[in-house]
Amino acid sequence: MYCPFCSAQETKVIDSRLVSDGHQIRRRRQCLVCNERYTTFETAELVMPRIIKRDGSREPFNEEKMRSGLMRALEKRPVSTEQVELSINKLQSQMRATGEREITSEMLGNLLMTQLKELDKVAYLRFASVYLSFEDISEFADEIALLGKESRNREKSGSKKVDKKTNKK
Ligand SMILES: [Zn+2]
Repeated sequence: MYCPFCSAQETKVIDSRLVSDGHQIRRRRQCLVCNERYTTFETAELVMPRIIKRDGSREPFNEEKMRSGLMRALEKRPVSTEQVELSINKLQSQMRATGEREITSEMLGNLLMTQLKELDKVAYLRFASVYLSFEDISEFADEIALLGKESRNREKSGSKKVDKKTNKK
């Protein structure tokens, strides 16, 4: 970073140490032009991006809301709590990985649907039918057809692997 005194670009770190139980790095820096010394603190930014709603208003990401939404979609489905928690963690790191301070509720919805699709197809359709607000039964049928196609493709690539193995023998 530029020197806060003379804005020179050439500065050097003369000392660096862990502070606040290792959650922060304190660096002493010296400007190579004016020789002034100053301190910087470095911490990981683990703040979740805020959510931009359809009407343009912003709200903080609500993990509890997300969990209860997932649980509702997964009601009576053979998915363990641990799997749900893993999905929530994955989703949150994907949100952070965007590097954005704010993301649209649409993007959040898409990330969530991707997680649900991996967890359970039935729950995915339950959620998608509400979230995408299917206009009629044909849209719903399209989505089901798409899911069937995806799993068939996966089966195909699976059987190829089996073929290879039997060829080797
Ligand atoms: Zn300087």
